Amino acid sequence: MIRINENYLKLQASYLFSTIAKRVNEYQKQHPNTEIIKLGIGDATQALPAACVEAFHSSVDEMAVDASFRGYGPEQGYLFLRDKIAKNDFQARGVDISADEIFISDGAKCDTGNFQEILSTDISLAVPDPVYPVYVDTNVMAGRTGNFENGRFQNIVYLECTHANNFIPDLPTKSVDLIYLCFPNNPTGATISKNGLAKWVTYARENNSLILFDAAYEAFIRDEDIPHSIYEIDGAKEVAIEFRSFSKTAGFTGTRCAFTVVPKECMAYDSQGSRQSLHALWNRRHSTKFNGVSYPVQRAAEAVYSDAGKQQIKKIIAEYMKNADLIRREMDALGLSYVGGENSPYIWIDAKGNSWDFFDNLLNNAGVVCTPGAGFGTCGDQYIRLSAFNSYKNVEKAMKRIRESVS
Ligand code: PLP
Repeated sequence: MIRINENYLKLQASYLFSTIAKRVNEYQKQHPNTEIIKLGIGDATQALPAACVEAFHSSVDEMAVDASFRGYGPEQGYLFLRDKIAKNDFQARGVDISADEIFISDGAKCDTGNFQEILSTDISLAVPDPVYPVYVDTNVMAGRTGNFENGRFQNIVYLECTHANNFIPDLPTKSVDLIYLCFPNNPTGATISKNGLAKWVTYARENNSLILFDAAYEAFIRDEDIPHSIYEIDGAKEVAIEFRSFSKTAGFTGTRCAFTVVPKECMAYDSQGSRQSLHALWNRRHSTKFNGVSYPVQRAAEAVYSDAGKQQIKKIIAEYMKNADLIRREMDALGLSYVGGENSPYIWIDAKGNSWDFFDNLLNNAGVVCTPGAGFGTCGDQYIRLSAFNSYKNVEKAMKRIRESVS
């Protein structure tokens, strides 16, 4: 008899975005003339940088001619892109990562979700709370957790990120094998200092743990002393995998391109206690289950690193961050406390009560949509997330309406 993976039955339906959509639709029906402003989404709103579009077009033209047509490419990604990433994102910052430690993929969602597959199912794991839900659900699917009780899965160590610890999780009090960290963070927008990150690397080295470091929002870092990569920390290459994405950096949310760094030194243990190369295992997994990102998309991603591309991306990010600055100023004026928005497109605001009530108030009184923090974990119950992904004009309008609604 064909049977299912019953771990899937433990998963909780994500009602977050469907509930938001339902409430927004109801409001729109009752207020057909109000233009609703969405500051809830974590999706790019600005067009692809011109340099990427140009590279896209010319590579499609190459595909139209037999002589320059390309079929299957290397599963790990074309060297032209991996080289540019290694040089620009790592070596230019004094970080020794080489092109063959980089695996190109079609998204950090897949990579952060899939990476656990090459690890044993009977390891312990820790995730931040609040959390990007992919880290949790993929481990539930793999059978590493127990059931969902009182808002949390059994057998997961939840690393609470609260006002008390500046939204930087404390080290676990016991030994944990697999640790997910995300900085700049989604949903809180918090960042971590080099010293803070170094503590995690030391912990991982002392406990033979592995850190999965999600740096999807790295491009939004403005402060000089915030690390862009976990590999800026000495000793991290032995204990950390890093995920990056062109989604938020260059508006590739619909175009799809990302990469994962798996250093050659990074090892995990087999049941005999022998060290095994995670690079070799991930290479095996990736080349077995994935057939590469399309050539034009990789050419478009390569253009991110051209002089023109760098300039255009700087401008796009600066525009999003101008939105974040405006949101922060407005929250200051309203006396609401928050974190984020300085080196990240997200602002995590203390709703001083139930996050769904705050959501309803914002929608009903200002026609503005936010994301209730409860959707990201128990520690988000009292928070809402505002996103800087929108036009400045809309953010200005939203802030004006919020101000008027509370005065
Ligand atoms: N990691 C984090 C923390 C994210 O917030 C997101 C998207 O919202 C992703 C990964 C997914 O990125 P991608 O579009 O590359 O799949």
